[in-house]
Amino acid sequence: MLAELTHSCPLHCAYCSNPVELIARDRELNTGQWIRVMEDAAAIGVVHAHLSGGEPLLRPDLTAIVAAAARAGVYTQLVTSGAGLTRARLAELAAAGLHSVQLSVQDATAAASDRIAGGRWFAAKERAAALVREADLPLGLNVVLHRHNLDTVGEIIELAASWGAERVELANTQFYGWAMRNRDRLLPSRDQLRRAEETVHAWRERLAGRMELIWVVPDYFDGVAKPCMGGWGAISLTVSPDGRVLPCPGAYVLPGLDFPDVREHSLRWIWEESAAFNAYRGTEWMSGPCAGCARRDTDFGGCRCQAYALTGDARRTDPACSLSPDNHLIKAIATGDRPGDDAGPVANRRMPRARSGRGGEGG
Ligand code: SF4
Ligand code: SF4
Repeated sequence: MLAELTHSCPLHCAYCSNPVELIARDRELNTGQWIRVMEDAAAIGVVHAHLSGGEPLLRPDLTAIVAAAARAGVYTQLVTSGAGLTRARLAELAAAGLHSVQLSVQDATAAASDRIAGGRWFAAKERAAALVREADLPLGLNVVLHRHNLDTVGEIIELAASWGAERVELANTQFYGWAMRNRDRLLPSRDQLRRAEETVHAWRERLAGRMELIWVVPDYFDGVAKPCMGGWGAISLTVSPDGRVLPCPGAYVLPGLDFPDVREHSLRWIWEESAAFNAYRGTEWMSGPCAGCARRDTDFGGCRCQAYALTGDARRTDPACSLSPDNHLIKAIATGDRPGDDAGPVANRRMPRARSGRGGEGG
């Protein structure tokens, strides 16, 4: 389960996959509601919760939510930018039962990292990594890759090793939310991707047994559709800051789906019975070419959000697949001209103003 505790975040990453219509703080679930989500989640078999956002450390009740998950037997991982993590806060979270921390890093140097984060946060990340190691919690780094940092992937891996990370997830940008808005400025070249992948392979051999390196393959370049979220409503669910439950964190944009709310329904009903979770579950909904394809139980026709974003119809085969009649759309984007680096700034993400006047840390 991905628990998006808040969309608020002091960083402004241009690749952020949060929806462009961010949920303001005065619409967030309260503590009691999140505690019930954790209990409900355990009851339907959730074993692992990513406590994410936005920046989950902005929730003053994070410790209570972690404790509720621990009581229910759910493993928790804090997914954080590191902004606001102190020794005392981490000790409190660890005592409540937090199992591991995944820290986002934007690039190998402070200048490059801060540019993409839209603020001076690199030093806070370095401090946060040191605190996690000091607390003896497992540390993973999460690095979103794009044209501005793919060429320094080797230096990023060296940085992760020097910070004591046990696992690094090198995730090529997925073009949803704010990343979609900035796609032209973030999309790498095929050559950049090839060089970066070779670098990662070389480092994987060098660091074997010491650090796990995950390479999340890029969209748009290999003609293959990914089994998004392991299949719609198959193994994963996302609870949004305002209590809506989605099969995938990008699904907000899909039309015609009324995503159910944890304040009105149990997670069990949402998972088993709701129309939204059954809309693209399994293979029954498919039409050609997926319906007759041998890979339909493996990749589930790819990503519904990508199909909708590029074709306007969420039921179509993901255009990333070379068998899709819309594959030319992806090819045109992947091979098209890129704006030069002097083409102006990316659109750093911004929070809306909260109706109550509180919050809005994201500016
Ligand atoms: S702005 Fe950056 S740190 Fe904040 S939620 Fe988005 S990607 Fe994560
Ligand atoms: S046609 Fe559909 S099921 Fe077949 S490989 Fe492409 S996306 Fe997957």
